[in-house]
Amino acid sequence: MTLAAKVAVEGATFSFDRWYDYAIPQRLCGTIRPGSMVLVPFGRGRARPRMGVVLAVGEAEQGKPLKELYDAAPESAVLTDELLGLVRYLRDYTFCTYYDAVRAIIPYGAQYRAVTGEDGPRLERQITLRTVSCYQLTGKDTKLTAKQQKVVALLEGGRQLAGPVLCEAAGVGVGVLRTLVKNGVLAEERQEKKLEIFESSLPDLPKEIPSLSKDQQDCCDALTALMDAGGPRMALLHGVTGSGKTLVFLDLIRAAAARGRTSLVLVPEIGLTPQMIHRLKAVFGNRVAVQHSALSNSERLQQWQQIQRGGAEIVVGTRSAIFAPLDRLGLIIIDEEQEHTYVSENSPRYAAIEVAKQRIAYHGGLLLLASATPSIEDYHAARQGRFPLLRLTKRYNDLPLPKVEMVDLRGELAVGNTGSISGRLAEEIGKNLAAGEQTILLLNRRGYHTAAVCRECGEAIRCSLCSVPMVYHKKENRLQCHYCGGVLSPVPERCPVCGGSLRYGGTGTQRVEEELQSRFPSARVLRMDMDTTQGKNSHEKLLSAFAAGQYDILIGTQMVAKGLDFPKVSLVGVLGIDQLLFAQSYRAFERVFSLVTQVVGRGGRAGLPGRALIQTTDPQNRILNLAAAQDFEAFYEEEIAFRKLHLYPPFCSLCMVQFAGAQEGQTAAAARSFGQQLRQEAAGRSDLPLRILGPAPSTVAMLHGKYRYKLTIKCRNDRHFRELLRGVQQHYSESGYAGKISVSIDFYSDSD
Ligand code: ADP
Ligand code: ZN
Repeated sequence: MTLAAKVAVEGATFSFDRWYDYAIPQRLCGTIRPGSMVLVPFGRGRARPRMGVVLAVGEAEQGKPLKELYDAAPESAVLTDELLGLVRYLRDYTFCTYYDAVRAIIPYGAQYRAVTGEDGPRLERQITLRTVSCYQLTGKDTKLTAKQQKVVALLEGGRQLAGPVLCEAAGVGVGVLRTLVKNGVLAEERQEKKLEIFESSLPDLPKEIPSLSKDQQDCCDALTALMDAGGPRMALLHGVTGSGKTLVFLDLIRAAAARGRTSLVLVPEIGLTPQMIHRLKAVFGNRVAVQHSALSNSERLQQWQQIQRGGAEIVVGTRSAIFAPLDRLGLIIIDEEQEHTYVSENSPRYAAIEVAKQRIAYHGGLLLLASATPSIEDYHAARQGRFPLLRLTKRYNDLPLPKVEMVDLRGELAVGNTGSISGRLAEEIGKNLAAGEQTILLLNRRGYHTAAVCRECGEAIRCSLCSVPMVYHKKENRLQCHYCGGVLSPVPERCPVCGGSLRYGGTGTQRVEEELQSRFPSARVLRMDMDTTQGKNSHEKLLSAFAAGQYDILIGTQMVAKGLDFPKVSLVGVLGIDQLLFAQSYRAFERVFSLVTQVVGRGGRAGLPGRALIQTTDPQNRILNLAAAQDFEAFYEEEIAFRKLHLYPPFCSLCMVQFAGAQEGQTAAAARSFGQQLRQEAAGRSDLPLRILGPAPSTVAMLHGKYRYKLTIKCRNDRHFRELLRGVQQHYSESGYAGKISVSIDFYSDSD
C-alpha cells in the first residue's frame, strides 16, 4: 500500500475542487497530516507549484503514478482538527472551495506562499516579523565602567530589555552593550519586536468589575449555569440600551476563566473595538488579544501567534476574529448580534454566528447573543424555546430611557429653513451647548452632497462602473463612488448626457458639519465617518477626544450609533432616516428600528436626563414611533406577522444566487439557465419546499463594471437543498457560461 496525502489545491474552480493524491517524500515523512499546508505540482503537462491543504492521509488511488509534493509548512501552520472542521463547514454552507475556506480562516500574515529556491519550489511565510536584540544579565560579576554600570542597573532583578530601549534609558550607545556581551555580563537574544497596539487614551477604568445589580446578577447566574451544563448551549440576552450588558459579559468571561476556559468577544465594527478592548483590558490586562482588519499584517500575525501559543485567554475583534485559534474555548459573546456586518460580504460568505455555533458545538460551552434589538429570526427562535431568552428590561440604576420627540420636517420649508437641521433640533443643540453637555447626531450618509442631478434631463451623475449616483466630497472637491471608490475630478459643471446645468443636492455628514459650524460658531464639532477614520487608531483617537470633552457635538454615520458609552451625552438627533425606511430589503424596517433604538440609547446613560429628536417627513410612521418608544416587543409582533404572511425568514431561508459579467445579455442568460436547471432538478423533489424568484437585475444593477443579476430562492436550508444546489452549481461550472459569468451563492444577503 502506498500512502498518499489527499490535497485540495488553491485556485480551484468549482468543478475541480476535489482531493488530489500526492506522494509524501522521505524527508517529510511523519510530518504530514490532515491540516498540513503543502506545496504541490499541479496541472497537466508542465506542472506548476500550487498551495494546498491536506485533508486526509490514506491509501493512494490504484493505478496512478503519484507526483511527489514539494514542501510542507512547519507544524505551527498545521490547521487544528477544529479549524479543519470549519474548512469543511464553510465549503458546505457557503459554496466556496476548500482553499478559499482556508484563506478565510488563517490571516494573511500567517499564510505561506510558493518561492522557487535552488532545490526547487518551497514554501515561505507571507511575512516575517521583525526581530530585535534583547538583553539580560547573566549573573557574571566583573569590574564595570560607569556607563556599563548604568546598563546593568537597569536590568537588575532579571529584567529583559530590547536594545534600543536599553540604550536610550542608560544613555549609552549599542557598542557598550556589545562589549558587555563579549565580556559575558549580558546575554543577547533575538526576539520578535513587540508591536504596541494597546496604547489607549480613553479615560481609566476601575480594575474591578463593579458589583452587579440584582437583575444583572440573576442574568449572570443563569448564563453561568448554562455554561456549566456541559455540552453546547446558546442563549439570547435582550437588554435595553444602558442596562449593563457589558458588565454581564465581563462577569461571564471571569467565570469562564475560573473554569480554565477561554473567551471570544465579537463586536460589529472596528469603531467599537477600542472601547471593548479598553473595558476588557482594565479587568483582564494582558490576557486580552485582538483580531481585526484594521491591524497591520504584522500586528495581526503577532496577536494570532500569541493566541495560538496559548498566550491569550480572551480575544476581542470583528467578524473574522471568530476564527481565532483559541484552545479550550468556553464562551463566545456576540454583541449587537443583529448587525449585518457579522456576515462576510466577500466569498466565502459566512455568518459569524453560524461559525460560532460550530465552534461551540465542538468545544461545548456557551454562545451568548446579545442586543437591545435582536434580529427577528433569533428573537423568534428564543421565543419558540429553542434556547433561553434572558432580559434586562431596565437601565442600570433605574435611569430612564431618553425621551423621544418626532420633528415634522414638512414644517421647516414653510418657515424658510432649507438646511438639514430643524429649528427644534437647533434649539435643543443650543441648550446643550449652553449647559456644557454633549450631543450626538446620526446621519447615515457620508460626503457633502449625495447627488448631482441634471436640471434638464433629470439624470444623476453615475459612476461609470457602478449604477449608483456619485457623491460630492467638498474637501477633495471631487465626486466619489461609494461602491468602487472611483473618483471624478474636476467636478463636472454640465450634464455629461445632455449638457444641461447640474444641481447638487442631498445632504451628507460633511455638509451637516459645515451647517453646524455656521449656526454655532463656538461649538466644537467632530465628524466621524469612513472619511475621517482612515488613519491608524483613528476611531480610538477621535472617540477619546470626544470622551475627554474636547468636542461638543459628534456627527457621524452608523459608527456613532452603537455601543458608545459617554456620560455627558444628553441629546441625540437623528437626521435623514426616512430614505432607509424605503430601502429594498425585507429587513429595511428591522434595520431602521435597530439603528434608531441604538442611537437614541446613546443618551442619558449616567444621570443626565437623555432626550432624542427624530427628524422625519412622516412623524406618524409606525416603525419610527415604535423605535422612539423603544418598544421592541411591539415591533417584533408586527414584523413577525409580516414575515409570516409574505414568507420571509424565519419562516423560510432566503438563498441569493448572484451573477456578474461584462455583458448584460450574457449575464441575464446565465442567470436564466441556472434558474431553469434549478427548477428542473427541483421539480421531481416533493421533499424540498422551494420557491424560485427571478432572475431579475440586482438592486445595484452594475458594480465595478460588471452587470449583475440575481435569483432569489425561498427554501429550507438543509443538507438536501444544499446538495441540490451544489449539483446545479457543478452543472453550471461545466457550462459555457463558467469563467465568463461569475456566480456567488449565500444565505444572508437580502437586498442586492
Ligand atoms: P449596554 O451595553 O447594555 O448598553 P453598558 O454595559 O455600557 O450597557 O452599561 C451602561 C452604563 O452603566 C455603563 O457606563 C456602565 O458602566 C454602567 N453600569 C451598568 N451596570 C453597572 C453596575 N452594576 N455598577 C456600576 N455601573 C454600572
Ligand atoms: Zn463605482
